Amino acid sequence: MKITRVEAMVLTCQMDKPIMDATYTLPHRSAVIVRVDTDEGLSGIGEAAYFGGPPMITKMVIEKELRDYLIGEDPLNNERLWEEMYQRTIKHGRKGVIIAGMSGIDIALWDIKAKAAGMPLYRLLGGCHEQIRAYASAGFYAPGKGIKELAGEMASYVQEGFTGVKMKIGRLSPAEDVERVRAVREAIGDDIDLMVDGNNAYTSYQAIKIGRRMEEYNIFWFEEPVPVEDIEGSAAVAAALDTPVAAGENEFTRYGFRDLIINKAIDIGQPDVTWCGGITEAKKIAGMASAWNIYCVPHSFSSAVALVANLHFSASIPNSLLQEFDRNYNPLRENLLREPVRINRSGYIDLTDKPGLGIELDEAVVKKYRVDQVG
Ligand SMILES: [Mg+2]
Repeated sequence: MKITRVEAMVLTCQMDKPIMDATYTLPHRSAVIVRVDTDEGLSGIGEAAYFGGPPMITKMVIEKELRDYLIGEDPLNNERLWEEMYQRTIKHGRKGVIIAGMSGIDIALWDIKAKAAGMPLYRLLGGCHEQIRAYASAGFYAPGKGIKELAGEMASYVQEGFTGVKMKIGRLSPAEDVERVRAVREAIGDDIDLMVDGNNAYTSYQAIKIGRRMEEYNIFWFEEPVPVEDIEGSAAVAAALDTPVAAGENEFTRYGFRDLIINKAIDIGQPDVTWCGGITEAKKIAGMASAWNIYCVPHSFSSAVALVANLHFSASIPNSLLQEFDRNYNPLRENLLREPVRINRSGYIDLTDKPGLGIELDEAVVKKYRVDQVG
């Protein structure tokens, strides 16, 4: 089998009202969807993260640079192709947009391989779980959203069947954010797992201080308390608090996670297969994390393709725990697939037994939101 075509499609929809975490305002929901075709009629779908920059740049990297290492190659040699892409781009790659582009391609190659094998991807990767518990990821700041609205929003996810919920902190004063956490805990009750996400907003001493104030509300994990590069600061927070520290959505490859793990900067790792180097790299990260008895709980905050790809990864490893399920406005998550992803009555997402990722894009939805074709 030979790769004949590599295409990246940029899909975008504007938010009516922007939402905000501690450090970032989200004006639109976008996705870079990757399609790899072969001469035997099999095609693979993947997604590349674009976070932090224009999605068109990620498309350019895929189509103007990485594609050159793929055309004419056998897609089943995905491990060799990963190394080829990584080594050939290393002088301006290693992290960021190159690795995100590689991630989208890598997922598509795994989709092809699992389709060729006639089995669902999570089983080809190892086969460990048939379902993964999902947590509702939301609780952003937004204009006009007060504590009452936030508490009501978080309680609504519990009503829908979620047994874990995550909210943002770090944009307001510690006193105001602790009060938001208190109100949410009261609204959701004691039996629901509650996570907080600081999105890199604090210094280590600020994070320790607010972390201690939140401990009475039984926080399941404190996500990204400090800036990504402050590995020692993250380790200090993890050592000082009973609450586990989770991070890794902004980290790349096994080399980045090696440094987080050996420096005890994380209690829970959050690689995202659209961002960290694809499924090939996420599996290595998970294997390494397992040697330190660390769970891998993939970040996912984009289209349904990203969600499903992360889910297959989760379902293939023994040290998975939960799957992030974004609940903010996003038609690319709700409408992009012919069969949307839903939780079951127990708050889990069931894996499908269809080959590959088991997804089919709704081409009408692709057409509606596609913005990268001129003329
Ligand atoms: Mg996060």
